[in-house]
Amino acid sequence: MSAAAADDVVEVAVVGGGIAALSAGLFAAGFGLRTTVLTEIVMGGELLNLEEVDRYPGIPGAVSGSELAGRVEAQAVEAGADFVYDDVTRVSRDSGGFLVAGLSAGVRASSVVIATGARRRTLGVPGESALEGKGISYCGTCDGPLFKDRAVAVVGDHDFAGREALVVARYAAEVTLMTSRPALELAPATRAALEASDRINVLLNAEVTGLDESGGRLAGVRIRDVRSSAETELRLAGLFVNSGMVPNTALLEALLGEDAEGGVAVDGAMRAAVPGLFAAGWARRGFGGYAVMAAADGAVAATSARDFLRPG
Ligand SMILES: Cc1cc2nc3c(=O)[nH]c(=O)nc-3n(C[C@H](O)[C@H](O)[C@H](O)COP(=O)(O)OP(=O)(O)OC[C@H]3O[C@@H](n4cnc5c(N)ncnc54)[C@H](O)[C@@H]3O)c2cc1C
Repeated sequence: MSAAAADDVVEVAVVGGGIAALSAGLFAAGFGLRTTVLTEIVMGGELLNLEEVDRYPGIPGAVSGSELAGRVEAQAVEAGADFVYDDVTRVSRDSGGFLVAGLSAGVRASSVVIATGARRRTLGVPGESALEGKGISYCGTCDGPLFKDRAVAVVGDHDFAGREALVVARYAAEVTLMTSRPALELAPATRAALEASDRINVLLNAEVTGLDESGGRLAGVRIRDVRSSAETELRLAGLFVNSGMVPNTALLEALLGEDAEGGVAVDGAMRAAVPGLFAAGWARRGFGGYAVMAAADGAVAATSARDFLRPG
């Protein structure tokens, strides 16, 4: 791996290190385009937090997220992509191309693929940030083992929340999977596994309105039934928040203004409103959520970058 110098101009700068970025890097470099993938800290993104990646075509057995990400990274390296470890703070126009500025150096590029993923949406209740790491977690695989034989809850209604409840139930004595919605959106296999578990309870129509702490750690949550407005309390040692994602697009404010909020708007070819700018995976609006969709987005974005750089 070699890093591009800051005064070089690469043909494609891919910002991000998850499967969307790695796939974009693989395809762009595979097309023979001079490609640099810039990511903060480590390659792999959210996949690094997944013990098993469900529903990835061609890999029917359990494959860990880190193994899958490592395989795609190796393919991208083999195809000739360069990798730079940098936290990209701003993407702006620069003499016909783009300046991709990072905390370390950044690069100049003729086209840019934004694949910066998303972070978990917080609950937005008072005290949440102070209790992060002291009972509140945004990663069941990372922090589940810390709650062995304790009572915990997972907030969320999507299949990923259901799967997170199954992960933390390997350690916790009791897991409450709760949502303010009237139903969970689960894949049949997840629903069956949840029903088979004697450690997992489901609580619907339950909105978390407050947090209780004791000795600087989470001790429980206050819950409001959204139908009756009745309030109850649940004693808990841990709360895993998995109630939606917020795209990481602040780096595009200079380029897109408020349009960057909520994900980059793209067409079916992953083209953003600015010519030469593309987006893939969780960083874009309308993303389908699954890893294979992020990989496909990355491949499509790289193909569109090639067509932009070499029309006809
Ligand atoms: C609990 C849970 C379970 C899941 N289970 C499955 C499953 O079983 N099967 C499945 O197919 N999918 C699953 N998913 C979804 C899967 O994780 C996503 O589809 C996938 O991670 C999206 O990839 P991405 O590349 O778009 O984003 P991410 O994986 O979020 O990667 C974004 C990358 O960009 C980097 N980055 C962010 N900002 C910057 C910046 N400013 N500068 C440089 N780099 C930056 C980040 O460090 C990260 O490396 C699950 C998700 C969750 C939360």
